[in-house]
Amino acid sequence: MKYISTRGQAPILDFENVLLSGLARDGGLYVPDTWPMFSSSEVKEFSSLTYNELALRVIQPFVGDSIETVKLSEMINSSYSRFTTADTAPLKEIGKNEYLLELFHGPTLAFKDIALQILGHLFDHILRTRGKTTTIIGATSGDTGSAAIEAMRDRDAIEVFMLHPYGRISDVQRRQMTTVISPNIHNIAIEGNFDDCQDLVKAMFNDKLFCDRMRLGAVNSINWARIMSQIVYYFYAAAKVGELKNPISFAVPTGNFGNVFSGYSAMCMGLNVDQFVVGSNRNDILTRFFETGSMTIQDVHSTLSPSMDIQVSSNFERLLFEILDHDGDRLQLIMNEFRKKGNFSIDNKALEIIQSIFYGASFDDDETKNTILDIFEKTGELVDPHTAVGIAAGRAQRREKSVPMIALATAHPAKFPDAVNLSVGQRPALPKRLNQLMEKKEKFIILPNNVNLIQSFISDNSKINP
Ligand SMILES: *Cc1c(COP(=O)(O)O)cnc(C)c1O
Repeated sequence: MKYISTRGQAPILDFENVLLSGLARDGGLYVPDTWPMFSSSEVKEFSSLTYNELALRVIQPFVGDSIETVKLSEMINSSYSRFTTADTAPLKEIGKNEYLLELFHGPTLAFKDIALQILGHLFDHILRTRGKTTTIIGATSGDTGSAAIEAMRDRDAIEVFMLHPYGRISDVQRRQMTTVISPNIHNIAIEGNFDDCQDLVKAMFNDKLFCDRMRLGAVNSINWARIMSQIVYYFYAAAKVGELKNPISFAVPTGNFGNVFSGYSAMCMGLNVDQFVVGSNRNDILTRFFETGSMTIQDVHSTLSPSMDIQVSSNFERLLFEILDHDGDRLQLIMNEFRKKGNFSIDNKALEIIQSIFYGASFDDDETKNTILDIFEKTGELVDPHTAVGIAAGRAQRREKSVPMIALATAHPAKFPDAVNLSVGQRPALPKRLNQLMEKKEKFIILPNNVNLIQSFISDNSKINP
């Protein structure tokens, strides 16, 4: 499998190098140059496979001969042995032809574990067999950081530096990162907000000398391997409701557009999809885009679903690249305009293609709380605020009641206990294995929002310091 950049100017890479490089040199994102396709008879066979067997079938073509199949299969099995349910992604009926796909049974209680557990094994294997090392840097508003740390801890070939905004993430989220005491894990609390953290990480990647010297790697969803690993559960859910022949719809609470782009990838590979409904909170830039065809940045608002408090959805660039027939030059122009002016528009033809499959809907905090309460009263299930936004979006935009609607449950309700408590008047208990979380010792360093100081800290504390 060959990978190309959405902006057409970066070198073509194989899987191994796409995994290790993160952002493309031209500022674009890597995508496969062609989609591996499953025939309808192959897709039909998927219903007899376990989650791990299906994962191997879906992931193998993207990895190609970078890793032997037996080894890949071992990594998949080992990744999902850390999930607490026998079934990695249980499906529950919550209404007529309406389902919840629970993606939060991994070590850190959010869907990020599904991909990051695999990424931990992929990085470790490729680096060790090639005798290489990497410095992973990332910015997190909560869920990505803990999932990455849990997946990368205690791995000799990897050093992790995770930046979070000091005092601006929940206690549970912070403790899930800072109580991991391992020699290769470094938590940095930045005196600033999440955007400052993200800007620092970008500045470090754009410092080509630093980037090459420290061999920087990325674990956010600009890394293709994350999108790849998430494609699996779209096929899996469809197989479980028995609709591999008939169309099926998905409702996806969306921030960086990584999760729903995985769904779109599944469609490109042969899954029969009727609608992707993209759920947003008050930060409704995508909802407005699907209505009008213009992407216009506004201020970021804090909401009950913080992992979706985002204006620029990085992975949307991957969708545009597909819709615009892999025209990298055009993407380059569009993205430059977006960066300069804070907005861009697409033509009617492209908009119509997008509108035939993508639907958007956004909900404020009161509507989110009402949805949590409604689900609880009707089904007895507690859902987290992100999941609630997805469910509400699916309900608002569903066009055909006979088509199953699968809402993706992206976090365990106990990860956002305050929001759940505000909605239903009870706090969901943390799962047993996290019992000790609130008592454990924490380790992190507080640094000012200054890229030079952070680069020195990373140089001084990474085993890659030459
Ligand atoms: C990351 C996250 C999202 C958003 O997913 P994207 O892939 O960024 O669109 C939604 N819900 C939860 C709980 C998350 O952690």
